[in-house]
Amino acid sequence: MSLLSLTDINSRYGTFQALFGVELRVDEGEIVAVIGANGAGKSTMLKTVVGIMRSPTGEVRFAGRPVGHLPVHQRVSLGMSLVPEGRRVFPSLTVRENLLVGGWVKRPGPWTVTKILQLFPLLERRIDHPAGNLSGGEQQALAIGRGLMANPRLLMLDEVSLGLAPIVVRHLYAAIPAIVEAGTTILIVEQDIGQALSVADRVYCFLEGKVALSGRPRELTREQIAAAYFGV
Ligand code: ATP
Repeated sequence: MSLLSLTDINSRYGTFQALFGVELRVDEGEIVAVIGANGAGKSTMLKTVVGIMRSPTGEVRFAGRPVGHLPVHQRVSLGMSLVPEGRRVFPSLTVRENLLVGGWVKRPGPWTVTKILQLFPLLERRIDHPAGNLSGGEQQALAIGRGLMANPRLLMLDEVSLGLAPIVVRHLYAAIPAIVEAGTTILIVEQDIGQALSVADRVYCFLEGKVALSGRPRELTREQIAAAYFGV
């Protein structure tokens, strides 16, 4: 059974339609990546999953039930966690405090401050520092850790790599297998195609609000991906 499924999603900003008939599923234990150029609708899809936006048509199902009518906090308490684009940590709170805030509404599960520090050891020596003093990569690690502290069934990551050096991005992506092994399913949104394909079990490519291509990375050719990404 799918943990998350979207059928016929047509989300809009006022009169501007951003998604067109999007169909997508994430099975328990998978890593699914959504790639696509700027403005392709990837973040809008995540906002629709978590309930910041609603589709006038179709259905969002999570853990076996329709959730499209539920407010964000109820979807979160069912086990969704979104790490939004832009590493929005609380700058004046310490690393520890940021993590504890993430666990404020907590489901039972494996993630604790200690486990997050094992996942991202670079945070350990920063644990009592204000998050605003951290580097971009450390802030992104903290944002992911904060998302995990709620012990979500589905962790959604929006543009982990944005504005970070490749070596930092590789370090962050290296943590993903351990997250899945701990029982958390992952939906990643990325503009960095190489990184997304290297880690994902399945990938969806969005183009102008539509799913232009989907499949297992090794079954897709570079040409197919380029065509779906750039629309050529
Ligand atoms: P990015 O990588 O830039 O985040 P994306 O694939 O996540 O791209 P979205 O942010 O989902 O794309 O945007 C999809 C479309 O919706 C774009 O045309 C964008 O301009 C438009 N859009 C996004 N946010 C708003 C908003 N708040 N109001 C109006 N239009 C918006």
